[in-house]
Amino acid sequence: MKTEKPGKKTKRAAPRTRAPEKRAKAKAAAADPCGQEVIEGLGVSPGIAIGPAHLRDGGDVQVVERQIAKREVEGELERFQNAVAQSLRQISKLKTKAKTFHGTAAEELGYLLDAHAHMLKSRSLVGGIKHRIQARLCNAEAAVMAEIGIVARNFAEMDDAYLRSRGQEVREVGLRIVRNLTKASFSGFDHLEPGSIVIAEEITPADTALMDPRIIGGFACAIGGAEGHTAIMARSLGLPAVLGAGALIGGVSNGDTVIVDGSNGVVVINPTAACRSSYERRRKAMARETQALSRLRNVEPVTRDGTRVTLLANLELPREIGQAVAAGAEGIGLLRTEFLFMNRDDLPSEDEQTAALSEIVEAMPGRPVTVRTLDIGGEKLTSSLGAHFAETQNPALGLRAIRLSLKEPKLLETQLAAMLRAGAKGNLRILLPMISTVAEVKEVRKILTSVAARLKRRKVRIADPLPPLGVMIEIPGAALTADALAKVSDFFAIGSNDLTMYTLAIDRGEESVAHLYNPLHPSVLRLMQFAIQAALRARIPISICGEIAGDARFTALNLGLGVRELSMGANALPRIKSRILNLDMQAATQRAQMIMDQYDAGRIAALLDDFNDVS
Ligand code: PEP
Ligand code: MG
Repeated sequence: MKTEKPGKKTKRAAPRTRAPEKRAKAKAAAADPCGQEVIEGLGVSPGIAIGPAHLRDGGDVQVVERQIAKREVEGELERFQNAVAQSLRQISKLKTKAKTFHGTAAEELGYLLDAHAHMLKSRSLVGGIKHRIQARLCNAEAAVMAEIGIVARNFAEMDDAYLRSRGQEVREVGLRIVRNLTKASFSGFDHLEPGSIVIAEEITPADTALMDPRIIGGFACAIGGAEGHTAIMARSLGLPAVLGAGALIGGVSNGDTVIVDGSNGVVVINPTAACRSSYERRRKAMARETQALSRLRNVEPVTRDGTRVTLLANLELPREIGQAVAAGAEGIGLLRTEFLFMNRDDLPSEDEQTAALSEIVEAMPGRPVTVRTLDIGGEKLTSSLGAHFAETQNPALGLRAIRLSLKEPKLLETQLAAMLRAGAKGNLRILLPMISTVAEVKEVRKILTSVAARLKRRKVRIADPLPPLGVMIEIPGAALTADALAKVSDFFAIGSNDLTMYTLAIDRGEESVAHLYNPLHPSVLRLMQFAIQAALRARIPISICGEIAGDARFTALNLGLGVRELSMGANALPRIKSRILNLDMQAATQRAQMIMDQYDAGRIAALLDDFNDVS
């Protein structure tokens, strides 16, 4: 496994890829005629996008000046302090990133970020802004802009060129605070030129949800790992994306022509004509391959020796449903309901949730639609639920997913009521994220029964019988107690993304440890095997809905371990089907057994890749 740091500028496009396409990508990069400097990162969503750069954090922000009442002062001061604290956290994250740069770039950026951090701590600047809020009763955003304007002008009037340049830095710091105050991501990307490439320090899953692939060509940012939700969302929208490309900071200007090669983890700024046409040729070749695979839409996924596999789609956003149907998905194996809570300040009502879920259930007549209760927390934060989360040292181990739902029963009851109502219109299954104990499942079942009884009393039409209640196997403790969980659950879905993260203690969204994230680690495979065998013994269905389900490198192993249901981003489905059609189930089972005898991840990878090469 490669261990070089992502984010450096380099002349050679050495591929930093997701493992499955490693070989194909290695060839592509070696043949790359781009003799020019490229920026490397993590290729998290395959494909090539070419278009004008749009710097998400670079533009001016609109600030409305507002006179506040005396009683609002405390609140404005707190908002301002929080925005400063968030700015400092962002800068420290960028500083860590900057250390991976080569040569003077690391030093220069380090100085710049230190200067920004210094300003954010400076008593005169921070004190001046607070004073404006308190004495002039000015809203926080306007106070920041006014104070920054004065300080920047003072610098601009100085004789010394170095000091004059500090004026621009003060403005940048001010804009960062204001962006954090206004949560600028709400503004969306709809006004951009079609084909634009979004460049940013960081792009959250909520930002990605605002990207319309008819307008946005792709994106690249300095921060982020391959298995975080931004990456998953990019793959499901089919947007080529490169994350963890630290050298983007300061390396791109608005309007530059940018190539994002999401297959190889490479970003090219202002390519030469030869380079651009080589990428265009590759883009066309990929489109031809996609077109060829789409012909498999109505072909049943059956292995060469007759094993039928069920292929389902994961949905991040309702608008992907058409894509899932077009790809030939036999249902939805994972509907992440976080979209209902993103980019808004209020919570969705029961009616709103019912309508959104019903639309999806109705688009899949007679087919299973597996709706997961809210999995917010950790890296998946939304503004509408921000108030429920205190700052914690380890958010991934904190109040996330089912833990939040059980702590805020109203939230869970509303979701369950919407699921029961939408379930009356089709075949809906309920899935619980981050389950770690039998007691949690029992508690949810109790709440589900009481919500159903309440709806029935009100004569509301609900699913009858009640929908199956399944659990995600994504915490090592859940996998190890799968036999007990199987007694209280109607089905299992293996969440290999979190299972890998929690087993190996690797943050799935963190680029600095991305090279250590490995679902082929024997510990992860043993936990999966344990859960699969428990499900088979208990005769309950088990699927995989983590990213390995949509990765053809893993198909033989997933099936060889005994899984017959795979759920994945719709874009991945045709390729997985094609892999299944070429697979010999008996040979895959034997290879999986051989793999399970190994204790070295490298040997496992070699055994799997060799098998994939010849079958
Ligand atoms: C997983 O953890 O594998 C999973 C499918 O859930 P999510 O990616 O939404 O955390
Ligand atoms: Mg998960």
